[in-house]
Order: sequence, then C-alpha cells, then structure tokens
Amino acid sequence: MTIAFDPKARAETLYTGEFRPMFIGGNWVPAQSGEVLESRNPATGKLLATVPRGAAADVEAAVQAARTAFEGPWSKFKPYERQALLLKIADLFEQNWEELCLSDTLDMGMPISRTLANRRRVIGMLRFYAGQATAIHGEVIENSIPGEIVTFTRKEPVGVVGAIIPWNAPIAASIWKIGPALATGCTVVLKPSEEAPLTPLLIAKLMQQAGVPDGVVNIVTGTGAEAGAPLSLHPGVDKIVFTGSTATGQAIARAGTANLKRVSLELGGKSPMIICRDADIDRAVPVAAMAVFANSGQICIAGSRLFVAREIHDEFIRRVADFALKLRIGNGLEEQTEVGPIISSRQAGKVEGYIEVGRKEGADLVVGGERLSGPDFDGGNFIAPTVFGAVTDGMTIAREEIFGPVISALPFDTLDEVVARANATPYGLAAGVFTSNVGTAHKLTQRIKAGTVWVNMYHALDPAVPFGGMKMSGYGREGGVEHLGEYLETKAVWIQT
Ligand code: NAD
Repeated sequence: MTIAFDPKARAETLYTGEFRPMFIGGNWVPAQSGEVLESRNPATGKLLATVPRGAAADVEAAVQAARTAFEGPWSKFKPYERQALLLKIADLFEQNWEELCLSDTLDMGMPISRTLANRRRVIGMLRFYAGQATAIHGEVIENSIPGEIVTFTRKEPVGVVGAIIPWNAPIAASIWKIGPALATGCTVVLKPSEEAPLTPLLIAKLMQQAGVPDGVVNIVTGTGAEAGAPLSLHPGVDKIVFTGSTATGQAIARAGTANLKRVSLELGGKSPMIICRDADIDRAVPVAAMAVFANSGQICIAGSRLFVAREIHDEFIRRVADFALKLRIGNGLEEQTEVGPIISSRQAGKVEGYIEVGRKEGADLVVGGERLSGPDFDGGNFIAPTVFGAVTDGMTIAREEIFGPVISALPFDTLDEVVARANATPYGLAAGVFTSNVGTAHKLTQRIKAGTVWVNMYHALDPAVPFGGMKMSGYGREGGVEHLGEYLETKAVWIQT
C-alpha cells in the first residue's frame, strides 16, 4: 500500500520520552505511588514514554469512578445517544487513524502498512456496535399459568466491565472491549499490557473528545500482577473480558469466582493449517507463510502447525522457505517492511529457546532460526522467519504456542488422520484448510474443533462475524450480534394484570 504521510517524520514528535498519565474518572493522573513504567520501541530499544505503574489503589479509584458513572449519568443515556457517541468516536478514529497506527507501530512494532490496513475493520467495529446499540431488546413470552399474567424479558447492562488486553494488537483489542460496553450501557476499566500501553491512552483521549461522560471509560496502566490481578479480583467489577495467554486466562477465571463475575476469555492457540494434495499451491504458499509471519508470529491465530499432504510436502515447504527468505524484515516505520520486531528481548529469548528445542528434538531447520543483527536491527529484537520441516506431533514446537515467527511443518497421508492430529491439542482457536474440493472443505470445517475455520484463505475478521475459541482457547465470542449478549443480563418480568 502507498502511505500518504512520512511515518518516520511523524514518529519523531509523537513520543519523546515524556510521562503519559492514565485516565481515571475523566482525569489524567499519575499512579498513587508515583511510580512509572517505561515503554520502549521494540525495533530500536528507544524510550518512547513513561506511564503510571498503576496498582490496587488506582484500580480501586477506577472501579469506583466506573460504578459512579454506571449508576449516575451514563444510566440516563438512551440507546440512540450511545449510538451517536459511538459514531462520533468512529469519526474521530477516522480523523486520527494515522496517529493511532503510528502509535501501535512504535509501541509494539507491527509494520505501519499493516496497522493502516486495519482501518475498515477497526472503525467498522465501532460503527457495527453503534448499529447494535439501538437493536437491544427483550421479548414478550406467552406463559401457561392460569390467570392474566404477562411475562417479558428486559436486557440490562451487566455493569462495570474490567477489560484486560495483550500487547499484540492494542487498537483492535481496545475497541473489541470498549465498543460493546458503550453500546450496551456498561462502563469499563481497561488495563492495557505493560508492553504496549500507549495507544489505549490515545484512544481514551478520543473518547474524552467525543464527549464520553467521565468514568465511563477508564484506563489503568500497570503490570499484570500489580494492576491486572486486583482488577480481576475486585468485587465491584461485574464482568471481566480478557484477551491473553491461556495461563493468565485460567488465573483470571479463578479470580472471578469470589463474586462470580461474568468472564469471557480470548486465549492462546496452536492453530493447524492444512494443505491438501489438491490445493492451489500458488495461492496457498503466501497465505500459509503469512498465517505465521504476519506480526512476526505474534498473533493468537497463527497457523503454526502446517500440515501438508505428503505428496506435495517437500515442494511446499521449499516454497514457503523461499517466500520467508524474501520477506522484508525491519523497523515497522519503513513503508516496505513486512515483518517487524518481537515485542521484547525477553519474548525474543523465549522464541529462540523454542528454536533451540526444535533443533535438539530433531526437527529439520529449513530456513531462519537466528536472531538478526546489523545496522538495520540495532537495539531491536528481530528473529528471522523460521521454518522447521520433519516435525513430529510430539515435539515441543508442534505442541506449544511459540508466539514468534516459527512454522512447524508436518506431513500427513489421509484426511481422517489429519483431522485427528489437528484436533490433538488443548487449543481450539482457529484453523486453515486449502483444498479445491468442496466436499473436503465441508468435511474438514465440520470436524475441526476451532472457533474459526478459513478455507482457501486465512486471517479475515469482520465485525459482524463472531470470533473466539473452543477448548482452552477460551469462551465467549467477540464480534457478531451474539457478542453484545455477553455485556447484558436478561431479567424476566412477571406482571399480574
Ligand atoms: P499475557 O497473558 O501475559 O498478558 C495479557 C494481559 O494480562 C496483560 O495486560 C497482562 O498485564 C495481564 N496479566 C498478566 N498476568 C495477569 C494476572 N495474573 N491477572 C490479571 N492480568 C494479568 O499475554 P501476552 O503475552 O500479553 O499476549 C500473548 C498471548 O495472548 C498469547 O497467548 C496469545 O495467543 C494471546 N492472544 C489471544 C487473542 C485471542 O483473541 N484469542 C488475541 C491476542 C493475543
């Protein structure tokens, strides 16, 4: 895509190492402790800004602000007023889209060409939720009780929502939480990841500019242990929506049991990508490669177990490796960059650890496998797109979520076999199938246990289509009309007339 502005020039002035306060009850505040966390550019290691190191006391203030707003002014907003607000926020996103994308590129490394390309989807989400705001309704139910009794249901907002998000797509993750909350009349305390807290703070600014009442959206920055855990435990929070790793999701589900919070979880994955022998290989190669290499593999839906029909396996893997070698890796501010850095040196070390284990367990390293160094990579955390062949199901790299640019390729012989192997994982987030046979497509989409199955494509997401996981990839859905139900309670009303 052609970029209509100079990302590098704009980046110079967006973050200059200053302190960026968090947003509680309509005020921009430091942490009560006065402590801060640094946010650095993963492509260069440069300090972008510091943010408050929020903790339990700040979470307390934010939950109180959210409760006051929920019971006060916000409860008086009619659906069409909430709709108008969401539409205004969408317009502000349009006007500030370049800055929001630049912020994500700087803070978490995603190439600017990729963040900009999400425009329709992200702003579409806001407009989709705006549309839903005026469509919330209960129903009149005919009962069988003798006498004149009317029964109907009301849909009511669940209350104060605690939203906890990861670092790999801050704009979309924030909107998938805040959008439905505003549409349904809930209030939100959002905790961004400590690895990428800056864009959610820009989003809060746009919320304020749009006229969202004080306390309806609050952002508490901080670590998972210091700010996330108190939020998930807080008795004043009615619901937690969480996106992140399965281990943290389990901790959050446990924390929610004290006051039986509603909990929805979008968790990790180890998604299968299945290339059948009748697949259109020219089409499948780039899609299978980018199903992992996009965002340097830091995508929950990464199709990281690449099952390829044995007859075409070797050729297919060679072509994926050739594709990987041609990818332009570097700072996401460069217009041409296709693959950016890994979020942190710690995470890059974790990915390197998996590559090492893959080698030791006997997988065949076809391409990549090294940390990149040199003038283009100085100060950053870059790992070459990596492909392992001759992987077997029991190997660590075929079982665990790596969250880095690593493909594990596994040959298969029959459809029954590949279905069983694809499903032999605790995860169930997504899957891809490449075939030119419509019967095979139906067979596989029915039998694969995953919240999303793409055929002859990958990655597509749309506000109107539900997204979420099965098994240990979580529960609940984001997007689609059923999503709003997760922010609503159903009340049955009986009236003796
Ligand atoms: P993570 O679980 O480490 O952190 C996610 C968020 O939870 C962060 O804000 C973190 O501060 C917070 N947190 C950590 N410990 C906590 C605790 N004990 N209590 C409350 N909050 C806590 O995940 P990550 O490393 O930021 O992100 C990568 C993971 O997210 C991967 O597993 C990936 O698959 C998953 N993910 C899933 C989806 C999806 O939609 N299914 C989307 C993106 C990422």
